[in-house]
Amino acid sequence: MKAVRLEAVGSIAIREVAKPAPGPDDLLVRIEACGVCGTDRHLFHGEFPCRPPVTPGHEFSGIVEAIGTAVSGFVVGDRVTGDPNIACGRCAHCHAGRVNLCRNLNAIGIHRDGGFAEYVALPQKQAFILPADLPPTHGAFCEPLGCCLHGVDLAEIKPGGSVVVLGGGVIGLLTVQLARLAGATTIILSTRQASRRALARELGATVTVDPSAADVIDVIAGPAGLSPGGVDVVFECAGVRDTVEQSVRLARAGGTVVIVGVTPQGTKAEFEPFDLLFRELKVLGSFLNPYTHRRAAELIASGAIEIDRLISRQVSLEEASGLIANPPAPGEVKVLVVPGLG
Ligand code: NAP
Ligand code: ZN
Repeated sequence: MKAVRLEAVGSIAIREVAKPAPGPDDLLVRIEACGVCGTDRHLFHGEFPCRPPVTPGHEFSGIVEAIGTAVSGFVVGDRVTGDPNIACGRCAHCHAGRVNLCRNLNAIGIHRDGGFAEYVALPQKQAFILPADLPPTHGAFCEPLGCCLHGVDLAEIKPGGSVVVLGGGVIGLLTVQLARLAGATTIILSTRQASRRALARELGATVTVDPSAADVIDVIAGPAGLSPGGVDVVFECAGVRDTVEQSVRLARAGGTVVIVGVTPQGTKAEFEPFDLLFRELKVLGSFLNPYTHRRAAELIASGAIEIDRLISRQVSLEEASGLIANPPAPGEVKVLVVPGLG
């Protein structure tokens, strides 16, 4: 079969490799779509540890083509989405229910072969069934949606609450939609690109802000701002110093900040500890998708999350290496790799 191989840091190419042989507990899944994510680019540049040679791609879904001898609950022909993050189940974090912090995390598309290929081997405990009539591209959004769900769970948004989302990439735009579903009635998105601001308003943002045109703190939390004194919950979904620093200043007294964006390791941000204390802010990190993949699949299956508008482009496996080796094109939200396309 064809697979995109990360052969070493800085070296990625399409290759002919053996089709995976499913173990007794595995499904052999024919990939229908696999999303390109910033993490794939970090792997290529050596900014995130992995073990090349490996096939990247951790946002995938497809059709079950064969099942291992110990598999139950799945049949050939099922459409499934895979939670790529395989926890060991044995370490102290796993036993405390923090599977996302597992010390022996073995992620599909990072530590073992993933979805930028015609087929992937998927352990049955990582697989979730999707409806047969779901558009074949939608399942690829379960993984990023699961990560956003974890952040939204941590934030404990209340109906009628106010939310700011910083960064209008796919993570920010999914978080806007989840905040709306959670009942927030003020949802403010800040992102620089006008096309993303327009899209966010269609997806549920009540108002958008251009951070390059105005002082975000003033416009949102200032005395004459959109939400004077700040909002209940701030989601940092850009992963840059500016937005991290804004996030604590945009939360109201007693509010919550959820850091979802991945800032490059070593990045420093400034805040006043007095401000955290005096205003009793909660600042939380949200990492991966512990126990949220099934709900992400349910949400996507239900049609409650707008997916089609987030798909900027679909490309073939042959085009994937070039895509991963280069920065994302301006304006694109999510690019999907669809084997067999073109
Ligand atoms: P993305 O497409 O890069 O989106 C981030 C966007 O933030 C940028 O495209 C940019 O859009 C915007 N931005 C940059 N500087 C900004 C600023 N000063 N103010 C406001 N917006 C700014 O990435 P993504 O896929 O949506 O992911 C977002 C972040 O979440 C990344 O850091 C990613 O690594 C991380 N992530 C975390 C998890 C987790 O488990 N915690 C899971 C998946 C992804 P404009 O050009 O429009 O400003
Ligand atoms: Zn573990």
